[in-house]
Amino acid sequence: MEMTEELVSWSHEQKCRKAVEALIRHDFTAQYCPTAQDAFDYIVNEASQAVTIGFGGSMTVAGLDVEAHLREQGKQILNHGVPGLSLEQRLEIMRRQLTSDLFLAGCNALTLSGELVNIDATGNRAAAMFFGPRKVIVVAGRNKLVDGTLQEAILRVKNWATPPNARRLKFNTPCATTGFCSNCNSPERLCRVTTILERKPRFTDVRVLVVNAELGF
Ligand code: SF4
Repeated sequence: MEMTEELVSWSHEQKCRKAVEALIRHDFTAQYCPTAQDAFDYIVNEASQAVTIGFGGSMTVAGLDVEAHLREQGKQILNHGVPGLSLEQRLEIMRRQLTSDLFLAGCNALTLSGELVNIDATGNRAAAMFFGPRKVIVVAGRNKLVDGTLQEAILRVKNWATPPNARRLKFNTPCATTGFCSNCNSPERLCRVTTILERKPRFTDVRVLVVNAELGF
């Protein structure tokens, strides 16, 4: 690793570790992962006892390439994003994700003071993150860290996560064209459900992996 890259990585590591410490103070199980491979290994290990594994539609998790590996292990994969599904089939998978053994999700923004902020259109991913699945693993790349307030975390989501997501999913929202949030009232508005996990939900085993790599958006 060249010097500049090493220093940038060191700087990010300090922020990642600060977020992990804050998450642990907030009752979450949290772990610093130096690389995406470490997150992959953690998930595969935690999945060993799971029969059903739900995927919340995260680009971060997709980037880890863990789904194919778990499928090969004979796990029952619940992924509503598989091409060719009807709306009713997608909704049925989303409902089943809510009672999966393990649910894997990304995070739209993670504050250095240990709060997870997510914004959904349907709400299935956000809901499964706090109640239902037996275990939840949230993966947050260093690009999701916000050294600021909850309001700034929400702005991070609306300015950096939702516009590319709207474009990816071909939603007809202003941000999909401009790249900026205009707090729209579009019929296809993605920002409909905002959740803030301030502390680990009482009866849900939520683990957060903070990865020193750029993952998702
Ligand atoms: S409120 Fe509308 S314009 Fe703003 S990020 Fe959400 S979908 Fe995009």
